Amino acid sequence: MLYLKTDEEIGLLRESNLLVSKTLAELASLIRPGITTLYLDSIAEEYIRDNGGIPGFKGYGGFPATLCTSVNEEVVHGIPSSYALREGDIVSIDCGVILNGWYGDSAFTFAVGEIDESVRRLMDFTRESLEEGVKEAIAGNRIGDVSRAVQNRAESGGYSVVRELVGHGIGKRLHEPPEVPNYGRKGTGTKMEKGLVICIEPMINLGRKETIQMRDGWTIKTIDGKPSAHYEYAVAVDKGRADVLTTFKLIDEVLNNL
Ligand code: MG
Ligand code: MG
Repeated sequence: MLYLKTDEEIGLLRESNLLVSKTLAELASLIRPGITTLYLDSIAEEYIRDNGGIPGFKGYGGFPATLCTSVNEEVVHGIPSSYALREGDIVSIDCGVILNGWYGDSAFTFAVGEIDESVRRLMDFTRESLEEGVKEAIAGNRIGDVSRAVQNRAESGGYSVVRELVGHGIGKRLHEPPEVPNYGRKGTGTKMEKGLVICIEPMINLGRKETIQMRDGWTIKTIDGKPSAHYEYAVAVDKGRADVLTTFKLIDEVLNNL
């Protein structure tokens, strides 16, 4: 059963997701060699609370932190720690908030200093695959249309799509139906309607698609130890064109020193 949101509810979800976008932009200005992921986590929690929100992940299923910080071969669900980021690392930061009872959820992969060109290309293709998915998130299309578009772009770069983790509906709960896989076939899956709000979140690997969960019960890594990238938008399905509730513009401005 899909929960279709009213325009007013989508307005509230836009506010929640804007707070996530702003939080990630705050972090963008801090990411450099020597910074620990735990420090980033503390800054994020403070920023979210100062802006009237509640960290959306902390305590969710027992997760201990505000952010998921996943470095290099870590795909998702990395736990912030005393690990200090190093030149050449990438770090995928996933952030959730609750604001006025509604969830925001977005992720972005950051480069730490200068990174290898092959890893930069992985990041570019992953972000593009998200944008390709968004183009299909229109009323009357099916979830498989989104999935296929993401997969096509990622695989056209020679990369592989993680299977074990998928996108999701979002609202007053962090994860609502439907599931939004990053692989699939056109014309299959749930038919999308105006008012459906989904998180599209490609997790794309440089090497093999297989992943493994660490003993901490959370961190997911690539099985071959090669890097993985992750970008996530919350998107309101609409007629003709998707309404993206997340913005990376604020992050891009920081990264490009605008
Ligand atoms: Mg997320
Ligand atoms: Mg998500």
